Amino acid sequence: MATKGTKAGRPARAGTKAKAAVKKTPSKKTLANTAPAKKAAPRKKPATKSATTALAEYRRKRDFTRTREPAGGRASEGARLAYVIQKHAASHLHFDLRLELDGVMKSWAVPKGPSLDPTVKRLAMQVEDHPIEYNKFEGTIPEGEYGGGTVMLWDRGTYTAPGGGADAEDVLRRGYEKGDFKFELQGKRLRGSWVLVRIRRDEERRQWLLIKHRDEYAHEGADIVAEETTSVATGRSMEEIAEG
Ligand code: MN
Repeated sequence: MATKGTKAGRPARAGTKAKAAVKKTPSKKTLANTAPAKKAAPRKKPATKSATTALAEYRRKRDFTRTREPAGGRASEGARLAYVIQKHAASHLHFDLRLELDGVMKSWAVPKGPSLDPTVKRLAMQVEDHPIEYNKFEGTIPEGEYGGGTVMLWDRGTYTAPGGGADAEDVLRRGYEKGDFKFELQGKRLRGSWVLVRIRRDEERRQWLLIKHRDEYAHEGADIVAEETTSVATGRSMEEIAEG
């Protein structure tokens, strides 16, 4: 179902149009020669995978006539990259860490949640990319639906590459692809420097470790997940969200 109509009106993949417009016009030659001799940066993958493709698995698992989770597909506004953690009481309680990259939210289920203690490594299972609008979702996924249970906005804000910079998203993408994904969080509850280190990359079990770097926001022995138990958006507890 819903195989038709949903993709109508979406702009064609960037690049195809521009390529088609290029014609062999001799008069442009001089112009081209004066342009800085910038080597075309070789890329293994296109910089921006279309959100439609990236979110296919996310959509396949859900019936949007039954769940109020967003179907997704809109691009993020603004240059800052979004960060969110949702506390999710599904069959097993876990925390969903989501980091915006190339128009989608890269997502990890962290069973024990993040730790401010740099000596603690938290298992983070990568799950399917989620739409950026998912960052606003707090509520209840109906029982029997995928991920059924209560979802709380536990933390949110922005993130960037260590040190920031204009090429932050490129730096982040390279780190992500290497499996050594370093980033800086500017959330309400989590801040400073973190890393996700990939330990298994097979499709079945995409396992990473989430580790806090030592900086002014690190706190040995702290248990932030136990200390912060309410929604960063609404102040509600899990019970209150479940009640609606
Ligand atoms: Mn989840």
